[in-house]
Amino acid sequence: SELQSQARSGSAVDMLGIVKDFGTFRAVENVTLQIQPNEFFTLLGPSGCGKTTLLRLMAGFETPTAGSILLGAKDISHLPPNHRPINTVFQNYALFPHMTVAENIAFGLKMLGRPKSEIVATVDEMLRLVRLEGRGDRRVTQLSGGQQQRVALARALAPRPQILLLDEPLSALDLKLRQSMQIELKRLQSETGITFIFVTHDQEEALTMSDRIAVMNAGKVLQVGCSRDIYEHPADRFVAGFIGETNFLEGDLQAVDGGVGTIRLKSGVRVAARLSDAAPRQGTATIVIRPEHIEIAPPDTAGSIPATVTTIVYFGTDTHVHASLADGTAIVVRQQNRRDGNGIPQPNTPIGLILPAGASQVLRD
Ligand code: ATP
Repeated sequence: SELQSQARSGSAVDMLGIVKDFGTFRAVENVTLQIQPNEFFTLLGPSGCGKTTLLRLMAGFETPTAGSILLGAKDISHLPPNHRPINTVFQNYALFPHMTVAENIAFGLKMLGRPKSEIVATVDEMLRLVRLEGRGDRRVTQLSGGQQQRVALARALAPRPQILLLDEPLSALDLKLRQSMQIELKRLQSETGITFIFVTHDQEEALTMSDRIAVMNAGKVLQVGCSRDIYEHPADRFVAGFIGETNFLEGDLQAVDGGVGTIRLKSGVRVAARLSDAAPRQGTATIVIRPEHIEIAPPDTAGSIPATVTTIVYFGTDTHVHASLADGTAIVVRQQNRRDGNGIPQPNTPIGLILPAGASQVLRD
């Protein structure tokens, strides 16, 4: 479609050494990001880490203290927002309540002075795209929250931006609606071919929707990668703890053999773990392991870590077994539920935990 070819000829965003200070406070610290055309790219991090500030810099609502933002070969760092081929969808939709659905969608096109026939055709195309055919004459106040969010998307997509910025656009919706809008957003992105840059603090949302994710903390980008990369090979302890559930076990490095370390836990048990390139090679080390990678064995099984079951939480597809090591470390193990219901230990019983060497890793602190 025309929409797709226009977006394809558009460029990716390059952020080069971006710094943003508010007075003496550094909100963004030396961020360099390359976002590809056609990509669903997510900025993920806890509240206050600088996601919205990065988005506002791309949109042009803020100017960088240092660094530059390129669109293709063009430096846009100091262009005003309305001169950038970039649009934003906000969390609160910001629709015009006194206008109809069609008037809301047409708004940006009118501001651009597009001919009336083109506006009518585009509004129709947008209504189809967001599955609101025949609803153009409705007042936006007569629509549900999910429908209002679709109107906000249609309005932002109508001028055919090269880049669509989405700032937590689904956080006001309830869980079921949010999940169906996640699928809608993925579809809209692939149908229009427009680069989506999505901000969320919800790691599950980021994992399920993104082509690539940039994980941020305290103004810095800690890791950029696809969902699987970030989940299975977190760059450091912060990323490991922020994405999904993670267990941390403290110990001392006793021996290093190539990329594998032997770590003595406080209980005296020795465990082998993969050492990431940036991991320490001596001294204290923290083993990082996902709950689904730990195995539960009968107590006193050779090579297992003694533990006591504290709580069992049933989740339908799996069960979370919470356990406590002798030194008080809390561990969670995720076990797939079997049809016969067996294999789940009882609270207050002793068990052994097996940490497979391939799944245990030591990361940069
Ligand atoms: P949230 O998810 O809560 O929106 P965020 O990751 O989007 O968080 P930002 O809104 O980018 O974070 O804010 C980053 C930091 O910069 C925060 O500490 C915030 O208080 C600060 N900040 C943002 N805008 C301004 C401003 N105009 N003046 C001063 N400080 C600001």
